[in-house]
Amino acid sequence: MKVQAKTKLPTVWGIFYMYAFSDLQNEPMPHLALLRNFDPSKPCLVRVHSECITGDLMGSTRCDCGDQFKSSMQKIGSEGGILLYLRQEGRGIGIINKMKVYNVQDEKGLNTVDANVHLGFEPDERTYETAVEMLKFFGLEQIRLLTNNPEKVEFLQKAGIEVIERVPVSGIVRSENKSYLKAKRDLMGHFLDLKDGQ
Ligand SMILES: [Zn+2]
Repeated sequence: MKVQAKTKLPTVWGIFYMYAFSDLQNEPMPHLALLRNFDPSKPCLVRVHSECITGDLMGSTRCDCGDQFKSSMQKIGSEGGILLYLRQEGRGIGIINKMKVYNVQDEKGLNTVDANVHLGFEPDERTYETAVEMLKFFGLEQIRLLTNNPEKVEFLQKAGIEVIERVPVSGIVRSENKSYLKAKRDLMGHFLDLKDGQ
């Protein structure tokens, strides 16, 4: 995997520099890194965000990904840091299967974990090797990680990236995503405070 292109990207959260990482020169869905004002001498603020087209782009309220993406970009926009955008849609099962999982949830009343298992997938098929490779490319060994996911912290630590602080990333609790967030907290061990109107 190498950097195939980089460019300046002005955003509503400030000017970022975007890097595209892939093995192939014309890869249609490369992993992306969005950097803003980071100081390599200090532990860098990092968000490792897995693609969620419905949440990030379409405003879906079935999950909290869009809120997490925006609040991470805002925080990195003001403090400096890096957001890695990993192409592992739907916790690694792709958009088509994710849509099928949504149908199973609606039809059978299953939670997000059981619906994945019902369709023959692991509850979470994501992996963070590419994130480690990208962080090492930027020379980052000590980070402050924006996440609620203990598995992500553990994976990075084991791969030699020292997470010196876990910075919580808050989403908005809505009636549509409350049971999804509860499943993430209770079945997947995410650190979430589910008070309404947060
Ligand atoms: Zn999502």
